[in-house]
Amino acid sequence: MGLFRSGIYKTPQQLRRMVAPGLATFAGLEAARTLIVAGNTTEQIDLAAERAIIAAGGASNFKLVPGYRHTICASVNDEVVHGIPGSRVLAPGDIVSIDCGAILNEYNGDSAITVVLPDPSRPELVAEREQLSRITEGSLWAGIASLMTAKHLNQVGAAIEGFIENEGDKIRHRFGILTEYVGHGIGTSMHEDPAVFNYRVAQKGVEIKPGLCLAIEPMVVVGSPETHVLGDDWTVATNDGSSASHWEHTVVVHADGIWVTTAPDGGAAGLAAFGVTPVPVP
Ligand code: MG
Ligand code: MG
Repeated sequence: MGLFRSGIYKTPQQLRRMVAPGLATFAGLEAARTLIVAGNTTEQIDLAAERAIIAAGGASNFKLVPGYRHTICASVNDEVVHGIPGSRVLAPGDIVSIDCGAILNEYNGDSAITVVLPDPSRPELVAEREQLSRITEGSLWAGIASLMTAKHLNQVGAAIEGFIENEGDKIRHRFGILTEYVGHGIGTSMHEDPAVFNYRVAQKGVEIKPGLCLAIEPMVVVGSPETHVLGDDWTVATNDGSSASHWEHTVVVHADGIWVTTAPDGGAAGLAAFGVTPVPVP
């Protein structure tokens, strides 16, 4: 974090270079998604994601993070983010968040999905986890959609938190939003300024204007947002053991609108509910 390599506001030429790594990231996550089934290990998912990124002409950018040797992070159940792929076998009812990124021609994509595995023997647990994932994903789209009207970055966090609060109110439940981990700018580095908070902050933050490239990534839990890092020095898990979800996309703000680089439709399907139509990067 705090790196500044390609600047907060990219040139139109730089913005165009964000598109291909976004699609390579999507390819990696799609390959992962098909393998998120009970009986598979998170290591198998990791290998499939890497192969797909390479086939798309990219390379894993997670492997460029000092000390990290994998293409994805796989965080299961009470694990929120930064889970390390390995011999863990996925089980029915698991809630699995996969985070993945690709670098291609010097530029980066970063995206995460959550999948809940079916388990007919525990319908209530599965329903609770599906609801958590749906609300987390919805809050991501709410945050992305807010870029169309927001003047400053703190309005994105307000949109995310507001969405989660509203959905929680409908079922009289208060979800936890992690505050120790946040989204970020993205460009020639996967992690650049500015920090993107998933909640309301007093400081306005940077101006929303063409050239901004953000990885927005709400991390939401059923219970308390207090977390700790496991003995592997990477995996972040909830203190109360409650389920967690993580969704992320990379989005570009350009002269004619916004475009989600890590979705092949630019985010059209997710943004439709918010009355926003993405426009391809000119
Ligand atoms: Mg990520
Ligand atoms: Mg990220």
